[in-house]
Amino acid sequence: MPSRLHVEDVTVVFGGNRALDGAGLRAERGAITGLIGPNGAGKSTLFDVICGLRGPTRGRVMIEGRDVTRLGPARRARHGLARTFQRLELFGRLSVRDNLLVAAELGPDRRRAARVAAEIIDRLGLGHLADTSADALPTGTGRLVEVGRALAARPSLILLDEPAAGQDPTETERFGTLLRSLADDGTAVLLVEHDMGLVMTVCDEVFVLDLGRIIASGPPAVIRDDPVVLAAYLGDA
Ligand code: ADP
Ligand code: MG
Repeated sequence: MPSRLHVEDVTVVFGGNRALDGAGLRAERGAITGLIGPNGAGKSTLFDVICGLRGPTRGRVMIEGRDVTRLGPARRARHGLARTFQRLELFGRLSVRDNLLVAAELGPDRRRAARVAAEIIDRLGLGHLADTSADALPTGTGRLVEVGRALAARPSLILLDEPAAGQDPTETERFGTLLRSLADDGTAVLLVEHDMGLVMTVCDEVFVLDLGRIIASGPPAVIRDDPVVLAAYLGDA
């Protein structure tokens, strides 16, 4: 069976700078795949390439064995791909519920948008904040709503760009449980995250990006002690 997501040999050049240099990875159904690396390693750029916001100079992106490298973001979304952004992209003046409703109305279940939004609020434990406007939320909670917006598209492959940034330890632990439940439902989760505790706890497999290249991959227990990985992080805040 083909991987849910297979990225092959992707290169992206900005001016003279190679943000990605032959990077590749796989994400499988029912698994949480981590993508880690120091700041500037190319993680967000790789997400842009996967979701179709940036065309690679070289390489390809395959979803379920189908080459989608030349498809735009909307077509890829129809193949079940959703993502969150590192920078919050919520509608600040809309309530949590309305942010989710807008997303659900764009999704495949749009005739049941209200029910989809209610389900997601419940799943994320945001009931007490449903009527709060997004710009009044602490950052960590705002990120959770972003994840909810991505879920409204009923994705089978979800890319999360530092979703736990700004969360306190209790929120992060609850978030890990949510990620596991998404994977258990059969979703392929690709997680970019700086919180190593979360990555090492929830991921089934971890890819390490440094200077645009994958320098290591494997189960968290192996990655954690890999001297090549430790060296890449030296000097990184
Ligand atoms: P990460 O998400 O791992 O921190 P990024 O993908 O944001 O890394 O950035 C990778 C490299 O590409 C960095 O050197 C960054 O400065 C550069 N870069 C990212 N976006 C752009 C852009 N739009 N134009 C020029 N350089 C960029
Ligand atoms: Mg980034």
